[in-house]
Amino acid sequence: MEKIRLGISSCLLGENVRYDGGHRHDRFLTDTLGQYVEYIPVCPEVGCGLPVPREAMHLEGDPDSPRLMTIRTRQDMTDRMEAWSKERVRELETDGLCGFIFKSDSPSSGMERVKVYNEKGAPVKKGVGMFARIFMKHFPFLPVEDDGRLNDPILRENFIERIFVFKRWRELMERKEGRGGLVDFHTRYKLLILSHSPKNYQLMGRLTAKAKEAPIKELYRQYQSLLMEALLVKATPKKNANVLMHMMGYFKKKLTSEEKQELLDLIINYREGQFPLIVPVTLIGHYVRKYNQPYLKQQVYLNPHPLELQLRNHV
Ligand code: SF4
Repeated sequence: MEKIRLGISSCLLGENVRYDGGHRHDRFLTDTLGQYVEYIPVCPEVGCGLPVPREAMHLEGDPDSPRLMTIRTRQDMTDRMEAWSKERVRELETDGLCGFIFKSDSPSSGMERVKVYNEKGAPVKKGVGMFARIFMKHFPFLPVEDDGRLNDPILRENFIERIFVFKRWRELMERKEGRGGLVDFHTRYKLLILSHSPKNYQLMGRLTAKAKEAPIKELYRQYQSLLMEALLVKATPKKNANVLMHMMGYFKKKLTSEEKQELLDLIINYREGQFPLIVPVTLIGHYVRKYNQPYLKQQVYLNPHPLELQLRNHV
């Protein structure tokens, strides 16, 4: 598979672009995820022409549309940053991005809970960095996360799953395989979608069942919207266990009662938090290969991202 292209705040790659001349190098992002990803670094503050080192800035005023101000000399950088960011997101349209990893807490790059100071100098953690806000508005469907949230194993798995799905979705759109391509895609992603959102699973099933009736552009637009919305919903142990039970049903006539009991115990132990998800998934994967089960064999759910990332190994 071709590497996935992700935008990233430059300081997370170890570039010395921060206001104090330092960086915020994140080893997981460069050394581990970096094996599968090609990063497009973006530092909005350097990009808009500010030097390194430079005066520190923060957000001020209305959390919904704050001003970007230097702290000591009180220079207003809002218009400069806004103009540069709007231009930069237009350039990024042609880079084939499948997501963006932002630096948390930055008044330029933070994607949520950034401090915004009121007139008394008191902060509320309700802001969004100026570049991050403009980026997310311009690319509403792109998966985004920040380095802080990616330390949570569930959010990390969810984000990486979304970028792998988005990459394959992008490839499908580029191949222009029409309605048939979309129906095939949906068939392979059904159980993955079910593990996140049973509601969207149903809506997407209905949409693809009527694929012939809708204009193709509208069909893809609606499907993409439902797909990205579904994947934003967390896949909980309960929902994963339901999917695993559903898969187990395909081996009703193949497995002995001891084998069924063993698999059921693994699924229940996973649901109760005793085992990581990889344990029941590995055993089901084994049965899928052993009995060459055609429908399950093509399910991305069994293999949504590289095993080496160990994203399903936590309890
Ligand atoms: S947080 Fe954003 S603006 Fe600040 S140094 Fe990193 S990339 Fe540049």
